[in-house]
Amino acid sequence: MTDLYRRFDGYDELKSILEGSDEDVLVALGGKPALVRIPGTTSGERRARFLACLLHGNEDSGFRAVVDLLRGTPHFPFDLWVLIGNVRAATTDGWFAHRYLDDQEDFNRVWGVEQRTTRMRRCAAAVLTELAGVDLEAAVDFHNNTGDNPAYAITPSATQASLRLASSCAGTVLLWRLRAHTLMEALQPQCPAVALECGLPQRAEHTAFAAAALQRFLSDLDLGLDTDHPAPGATRLYEMRYRVTIRPEVAFTFGGALTGELDLVLTPALDGANFGMLLAGTEVGHVAPGTAVPLDARDMRDADVTERLFSVTDEGALVLREDVTPVMMTTTVRQARRDCLFYVARRRR
Ligand SMILES: [Zn+2]
Repeated sequence: MTDLYRRFDGYDELKSILEGSDEDVLVALGGKPALVRIPGTTSGERRARFLACLLHGNEDSGFRAVVDLLRGTPHFPFDLWVLIGNVRAATTDGWFAHRYLDDQEDFNRVWGVEQRTTRMRRCAAAVLTELAGVDLEAAVDFHNNTGDNPAYAITPSATQASLRLASSCAGTVLLWRLRAHTLMEALQPQCPAVALECGLPQRAEHTAFAAAALQRFLSDLDLGLDTDHPAPGATRLYEMRYRVTIRPEVAFTFGGALTGELDLVLTPALDGANFGMLLAGTEVGHVAPGTAVPLDARDMRDADVTERLFSVTDEGALVLREDVTPVMMTTTVRQARRDCLFYVARRRR
C-alpha cells in the first residue's frame, strides 16, 4: 500500500463519498490523488480501460463528468480504472482555483521522470507501476485549456490505433510529439493514450461534452484499435510545429495602451483564431519603435524560428511574417508565463 494516493477497489468505500456534491467528493479525498478500479462484469475477458481527470486542478469538466458517471455505480464488461489527479490544487483557495500550487510541480509533467525527488513524482511512479500490471486497451486523459479552442484530442503517436482513439473523442485531432513527461506519453508504450481538451473549464456545456465523450469511450465495446483501418476521414488532423513564448525579460499585457512599465501589448482575442488561420501581416501586438522581437519561437527540435515567423515594423507593430494556424493561444499573463503564448500547428488532412 502507498500513502501517495487513495486507492479504491469497487464501489464499497466509494459509494458514500459519491453521494455528496462534486466539491464534497474532492474534500472526502483528503488532498490526495485517487486511483479507482471498477471491476468488469466479464472477469478479465476484455482488456481494461483507463480514464484520468483533474491532473490540472483547475480543469473541472472531466472530473465532473467522471464523478457523475460513477454516481450511477455502473459496471462495464471491462475493468475501468480512473485516476483523479491534483485534488490538493483543486481544493486550495476555493474550488478549482489552481492548475497546480506554487509548492508543486505540474502533475502532467512528472510521468516517467527518472529522478523521483518529489512526492508528486513518486506518486506518478507508483501509479504507473500499478497500471503496468493491468492489461490496458486504451486511455483517455481529460483536460481543459485557458483560451477559446474547439474541443480537440491530442495524441503523441501517429499510429492508426492512437489516431482512431483520438478521433473517437473529438472531431479535431492534434498530433503532438511533445516529450514533456505527460501521462499519455508514459502510457503510450502500453496502450493508445490520448488527452482530450474539452474547452474552457467551469462551463456546463464543456462538462456535457466531456460526459458525451466518456459515454462514447465506455459504450463502444469494439474500439477497433487493433485494426489497420485508418481513422474516420471526417477528423481534422493537425500536427504541432512551433511553440511561441514571450521572452522572460519582457513585461507584457493583453490589450490596452503601451505604458512606461510595459514592453509589449498583445492584441486581445487572438485566441478566437485557434485552429483557424492568422494571415501574414496580422498584428499580434505592439512595442515601442526600435524594440527587438519580444517573442521566442522554437520548432519541435528546439531550433529558433523566431525571425521566420515575426518581425517588428518601423511603427512598432509586431506582425506575423507567414500564415499560421495558432492553437492553445492563451489570454492570461500567468498561463503565457507558465507555459507559452501559443503554439503553431499545420493541417495534415
Ligand atoms: Zn490540463
